[in-house]
Amino acid sequence: MVERRDTDSRTLLRRLRDTLATPGGGQDRLDHITHLIADSMHTQVCSIYLFRDPETLELCATEGLNPEAVHQVRMRLGEGLVGRVARTGVAVNTGDAPSEPGFRYMPETGEEIYSSFLGVPIQRVGEKLGVLVVQSREAREFSEDEVYGLEVVAMVIAEMTELGAFTGDQGGIGSAHRFPVMFRGATGQEGAAEGRVWLHEPRVVVANPVGDDPDAEKARLEEAVATLQAHIDEMLIGSAAMDKEQRQILEAYKMLAHSRGWVRRMCEDIDLGLSAEAAVEKEQSTARARLEQSTDAYLRERLHDLDDLSNRLLRLLTGQGKDTGAELPENPVLVARNIGPAELLDYGRKLKGVVLEEGSVGSHAAIVARALAIPLVIHAARVTNEALNGDQILVDGDQGIVHLRPEESVAGAFRDKIAMQAEAQKRYADLRGVPAQDKSGQNVSLMMNAGLMADLPSLNSSGADGVGLFRTELQFLIRSRVPRRGELAALYKRVIDAAQGAPVQFRTLDIGSDKVVPYMKPQEEPNPAMGWRAIRVGLDKPGVLRMQLQALIRASEGRPLSVMFPFIAAPDEFNTAKAMLMREIDRESTLNRPVPRDVRVGAMLETPSLAFAPDSFFAACDFISIGGNDLKQFFFAADRENERVRRRYDTLDVSFLAFIEAIIARCNANDVALSFCGEDAGRPIEALTFAALGLRTLSMRPASIGPVKHLIRRVDLAVLKQVIDAARARGDQSVRHAVTAWLASQ
Ligand code: PEP
Ligand code: MG
Repeated sequence: MVERRDTDSRTLLRRLRDTLATPGGGQDRLDHITHLIADSMHTQVCSIYLFRDPETLELCATEGLNPEAVHQVRMRLGEGLVGRVARTGVAVNTGDAPSEPGFRYMPETGEEIYSSFLGVPIQRVGEKLGVLVVQSREAREFSEDEVYGLEVVAMVIAEMTELGAFTGDQGGIGSAHRFPVMFRGATGQEGAAEGRVWLHEPRVVVANPVGDDPDAEKARLEEAVATLQAHIDEMLIGSAAMDKEQRQILEAYKMLAHSRGWVRRMCEDIDLGLSAEAAVEKEQSTARARLEQSTDAYLRERLHDLDDLSNRLLRLLTGQGKDTGAELPENPVLVARNIGPAELLDYGRKLKGVVLEEGSVGSHAAIVARALAIPLVIHAARVTNEALNGDQILVDGDQGIVHLRPEESVAGAFRDKIAMQAEAQKRYADLRGVPAQDKSGQNVSLMMNAGLMADLPSLNSSGADGVGLFRTELQFLIRSRVPRRGELAALYKRVIDAAQGAPVQFRTLDIGSDKVVPYMKPQEEPNPAMGWRAIRVGLDKPGVLRMQLQALIRASEGRPLSVMFPFIAAPDEFNTAKAMLMREIDRESTLNRPVPRDVRVGAMLETPSLAFAPDSFFAACDFISIGGNDLKQFFFAADRENERVRRRYDTLDVSFLAFIEAIIARCNANDVALSFCGEDAGRPIEALTFAALGLRTLSMRPASIGPVKHLIRRVDLAVLKQVIDAARARGDQSVRHAVTAWLASQ
């Protein structure tokens, strides 16, 4: 009996596949398919409903219902039994359709005489295409085998869609089903871009959904599963150095890869006529639909594992690697689950934008995207499931929004926005040669933050007065091994050369916390941001810091050198680090090598403690730079990496401003140069407020220099200071409202 069912199913699938080879348009094929299915399943009715837009399904072909209703009958997602199947992605099977909750009677179709109803989703890895329905007169529920069989048929229809079987006329579902989708993520890097999707890991194309020889297909599947299991076991053996979370993920993979149920279900699909690849995809889609319904966050998290394993299995089966030979489209926008900094750098400025499902503001990829000034949206959930290579895509890095296959009206509005930004950039470019001077003649020095060679061209184009923060750790993060002294010296020299005499403040290695270098054993720390990081690592394991200092000294070739140490929390740390630098200079000198003409040594003020250090500390510093990103997170006790809290407290909160003012006062009293180099320095309102409070050097990403300068030149900072003081006297919690209202009135 089982054998008979399998043979029937295989015959049906083969016939479906053969329709691919028949001439005729998409509608002819759809009509033929409904006929074949009704015949094979012994039902009076078979219908195919397809999405016309994300909310509407349309009857596109039928055997048994009123032919006049085709392309006339439509329903909303969730409406009626068909709408329910589409919404949930789960089959509906009933012997008495009219009594089912949510049943909606559609007189145009003539379906009132059919009592039983079986509907299954037509979907492909999370992409919902429509619903396949069979109906018959006798009031009986369909058997489990029949449900299963229809799901397999639906899978083949979905794969045929992917292969373009139904494109061509009004019944076509080739491109019409690719609707506009909007993703709401978070800002990784501001800016707007329009382009074409480039999938970092393209989806596998299943060329043949139907298998001719079930035994051969099962053998292929089992071999691929064995290889996959062996890979995962190997990874687990090598996982000793991984952190707990990574190991847990691998363990979960292992469980899934060894799950008998998973392999058994795929073998059953093959028995019914699917190819091994299509069986993997069917199992992935069905499990997805189930997991997505789950309210258990842990289970939903497992979606990633499932997708990952299925994709690996598909690549093993098809032999398709990540490189499909496809050419990078014009204006490529990279879409990926996540990407490493080195890979992103490889693409370089070719990319117009980047959209990631994961990532974080402080992730290395985000840092690289920022350095390259590429708009980046992170946390765009499920974008890799929806996007296909070549799809039109709009990236709004300012709002953290992505439009995939946008409506023309949305694309039009977006282009206006890009044009306006380009217009503004042109205006800012005209300001390049003029100083950031307010109306009363007060000058503010605007410097840029950098960390990659890719940043260097910005030194000229932005009009920066120099590099206020060179994050040296980026060179460590993008490599798979510790860079050598010679390499670093050559690189630092190129930076100093590019600055053409303008100052460059090199910050020594700031690793730990969110910045994990691949070749250092990760530390399992409960609070890495407050853990073993930055100067703490440098002093405890001085080898790398010493090598870096030597590289800096050599790179200077006798020219002036500025070095600052990150995350100084107590004067001792600064004194020890400074002594180390001086010792290295002495050593070079005894070796008769050139030493920097003028050495300036500074500290980054990133912990509140340092603001209260004794005067002797300030006297020992040549300059201090406020690392506002860290300082703010410790001031408000709000993790800068945590989306829930990182925007909770305003930088213009009067308490924080009072603290900044106190730091300014201490630096002034001790005659120490002070700058601010956190991200806030590049936000025009924040920058203006800091300048009004007396900060005379701001270091920011290059793209912010124009807008900040533009604003400074339009105001009188002393008047703004009065506005700020008045707001504080009134008891405002933040001066933001007062500052923006005043600016608007100018
Ligand atoms: C800061 O903390 O403000 C800073 C500039 O350092 P980073 O962002 O690299 O930690
Ligand atoms: Mg910092």
